[in-house]
Amino acid sequence: MNQEFLRTMHIDGQWVEAQSKTVRDIINPYDGSIITQAVEGDREDAKAAIAAARKAFDDGDWATSPAADRGALLNKLADLIRRDHEELATLESLDTGKTVEESRWDMNDIAGIFTYFAGLADKDGGEIIASPIPDSSSLVVREPVGVCGQISPWNYPLLQAAWKLAPALAAGCTVVMKPSEITPLTTFKTMQLVEEAGFPAGVVNLVLGPGPTVGAELAESHLVDLISFTGGAATGKKIIAAAAGNVKKIALELGGKNPHIIFDDADFDVAVDHALNGVFFHAGQICSAGTRLIVHEAIHDRFVDALAKRMANITLGNAFNDATRMGPLISATHLEKVESYIDIAKGEGAKLVLGGSRPSDPALANGFFYLPTLFTECTSSMRIVQEEVFGPVITVEKFTEEDEAVALANDTIYGLSGGFRTKDPDRIARVSRKLRFGTVWVNDFNVYFTQAPWGGYKQSGMGRELGKIGLEEYTEVKHIFQNHNPAALNWF
Ligand code: NAD
Repeated sequence: MNQEFLRTMHIDGQWVEAQSKTVRDIINPYDGSIITQAVEGDREDAKAAIAAARKAFDDGDWATSPAADRGALLNKLADLIRRDHEELATLESLDTGKTVEESRWDMNDIAGIFTYFAGLADKDGGEIIASPIPDSSSLVVREPVGVCGQISPWNYPLLQAAWKLAPALAAGCTVVMKPSEITPLTTFKTMQLVEEAGFPAGVVNLVLGPGPTVGAELAESHLVDLISFTGGAATGKKIIAAAAGNVKKIALELGGKNPHIIFDDADFDVAVDHALNGVFFHAGQICSAGTRLIVHEAIHDRFVDALAKRMANITLGNAFNDATRMGPLISATHLEKVESYIDIAKGEGAKLVLGGSRPSDPALANGFFYLPTLFTECTSSMRIVQEEVFGPVITVEKFTEEDEAVALANDTIYGLSGGFRTKDPDRIARVSRKLRFGTVWVNDFNVYFTQAPWGGYKQSGMGRELGKIGLEEYTEVKHIFQNHNPAALNWF
């Protein structure tokens, strides 16, 4: 890889060296090799980037520029992403280990996200409301919220960054983006495209480095108006505390422990297929992975057998092999975390049906691979059912009555997404309203698209990304009242 790649950060329209000379190895999770090294920024770099974003917002033309012009720049960026689609997909797969086909889907989505928000940028014309006060007028307008700190995770590095960057820029905000220190490749490359597209200096700034310093500075700084964070719930709680100093706006997309209920009238074969799709993309490292299967007792045993049979055939391997269906976990540390949950589950009395170890294939020995794993005889009180494992691990719970299934599904601190499968229209109406999740899938799983809002109930976060509401998150609402015939009240 080019020696210059990842050796600088982008601040105020310039590629600048980090204050510290520390670098971090960027590891290929397929074989543990070093792809390249990235500079490690610190708080001083974050402060410089925040100052640049502040100056661009307060003194520049960006926030007040015609929204259609901002949309045009976003469209230009979308075109550049389409042009470099294959390079971006390759970088994403090198960095994360996910199959290159999955990365290509991500890149298509990402270009579409910039196009979508480019189109939305100039659609809100404000609202005139009927003022109850004679001889006056009332106008309600949306304005950009200001300087936004944006922190993304490692599982969908550029996709998660795009969910934040596109609406913020469409709204007229300026941005300091911090990708996960483990997976900065595609965000860095996209910053080069931002520059090529011609965004004004200081509007988009990129800082690299660790969460507890660079990320924390974004969350704490009094010069930042909004912090948008995607990552784990524990980190999300730190962000809330850090943001309190200047009561900045907070948008959080956190973890999930997502139930997938299979009623006994569901289409059996499709249900098995979707249950697999719901979990094993990107080796289960998906916030909305349907790892908590809740299966009706009448079909439970047959369902578990069918699932195990197909799970045993999932091909693990290199992201760039056509036959590969599942890549590695992101890191050695994460692999150890997933492994620790297997011991916990066994200790709690869950029955291991399949997997539960690293693969024996010597070709995969240097990578962070884990076998698709299936536990049955699970109950709600088990940690393996309650906590986000973030790996290729399914738990199965059995139920008899509809209410019991709903109660099991809702028995979680999280509320990101959930799904159920049935052909009964009355049951569809009932259950879809009783499930307490930001997204509910009926006879499908893990479907999301740019036009629909995404976000969680309960400890899965606050606020929504994507859709029209995703743009509104980056705006403040202002009421402008005008008295057309002012007269003295003579009260004081
Ligand atoms: P993480 O919380 O460890 O890190 C996320 C980001 O936060 C990284 O950029 C990291 O550097 C930064 N960070 C860490 N500590 C920080 C601090 N004290 N202050 C500020 N920033 C800090 O999460 P992760 O392991 O990278 O990602 C996996 C998690 O993300 C999972 O829990 C997953 O469910 C969640 N996720 C949620 C969604 C969603 O849409 N809800 C999408 C993707 C991932």
